[in-house]
Amino acid sequence: MAIQVNSYILPNSVAEKMIAKINETRDKKIELGFSLCLTKKGNIITAGEGCAGTQCEMLQPKECPTGNYIGGYHTHPKSGTKPSIADLAVAYNDEVGCIGSVRDEKIMCMVRDGPMVPQTMQEIRDAAKNIEEGSGKIVTKEQFQVWESARDGILDKYFKVVDIK
Ligand SMILES: [Zn+2]
Repeated sequence: MAIQVNSYILPNSVAEKMIAKINETRDKKIELGFSLCLTKKGNIITAGEGCAGTQCEMLQPKECPTGNYIGGYHTHPKSGTKPSIADLAVAYNDEVGCIGSVRDEKIMCMVRDGPMVPQTMQEIRDAAKNIEEGSGKIVTKEQFQVWESARDGILDKYFKVVDIK
């Protein structure tokens, strides 16, 4: 059964590839994923080039040799499907971002709600830089709550979320 992701169709075969990456992540304990491409003349999502580790944060349009690039899918080895602010910045720039969680065995996609607005792009990048970067330094509950509420605020305001699994 295919899943509607905004104006795109995610075929079951691609959803199964996403699940396979979750299982592989469980074994290898590193982030894995692939780029999300469209069919040459259509709105059907296909799986493009694969990525591992930090590569998954740098997927590029060139990883879709035949159709348009719309974003990336990556796994979270330890956390749930909720995005980091850096994930939101990438997904906002691209249009779509999908995340699979080993811990929750769930997959979700976020889709930018409307056209890319440069000012909003900057706002999200600033939040990633100022609130999230060096999040290893987030030690107090208060700091965590500031980060979480900034992340949730951006997600609610600028994206639609589609549950895949
Ligand atoms: Zn992520």
